[in-house]
Amino acid sequence: MSDKVVKQAKNLDNNFRYEISEKVGAKSLLKCIQCGVCSSGCTVTEYVDLQPHRVVASCLLGLREEVLSSNAIWTCSLCHRCTERCPKNVDYSFILALLRNMAVKEGNVPIEYSVTINTIYNNGFVIPYTGGMKTTIDRRRNKMDLPNIVGPNLDEIQFIIKETGLGNLIKKEEDDEK
Ligand code: SF4
Ligand code: SF4
Repeated sequence: MSDKVVKQAKNLDNNFRYEISEKVGAKSLLKCIQCGVCSSGCTVTEYVDLQPHRVVASCLLGLREEVLSSNAIWTCSLCHRCTERCPKNVDYSFILALLRNMAVKEGNVPIEYSVTINTIYNNGFVIPYTGGMKTTIDRRRNKMDLPNIVGPNLDEIQFIIKETGLGNLIKKEEDDEK
């Protein structure tokens, strides 16, 4: 996201802050005083396009699209330091987890995540255990006297992925490829 965002008032989502705060309860972002303590102690602050206090400000201002498409919500390591240090008890790390869920519902996730889900959906493993990869893994395990890998129940895995809504990400990836 660029440093400067110009947006007409009619394009702001004024309900965004309430949508988030009603799920966070007492540790709501509505109490934020923009002191910046969360950003000063953030362990990934130099890698994000929006620092924590700016994410909070953007939520308060109704910049829904900018927040949900920022890399900040995915780069966070969920170390909870911001939450522990906030003088106003804003639970920023929880808010971030919430923002991730919102972004996923809108099919807005980094490609690395949807590719990984696709691999799990098709193989049952994070790393494909098929073809040449399977041969290599099996050979190395044999050398180390490790037992054979027992494959998971793929039907169960695919059922869980579909039921939890993660399947929407696979569908989005397929749509993007068309
Ligand atoms: S530390 Fe808390 S009050 Fe200060 S900017 Fe961050 S969220 Fe807001
Ligand atoms: S929980 Fe995330 S945003 Fe908060 S300090 Fe840790 S990395 Fe930064």
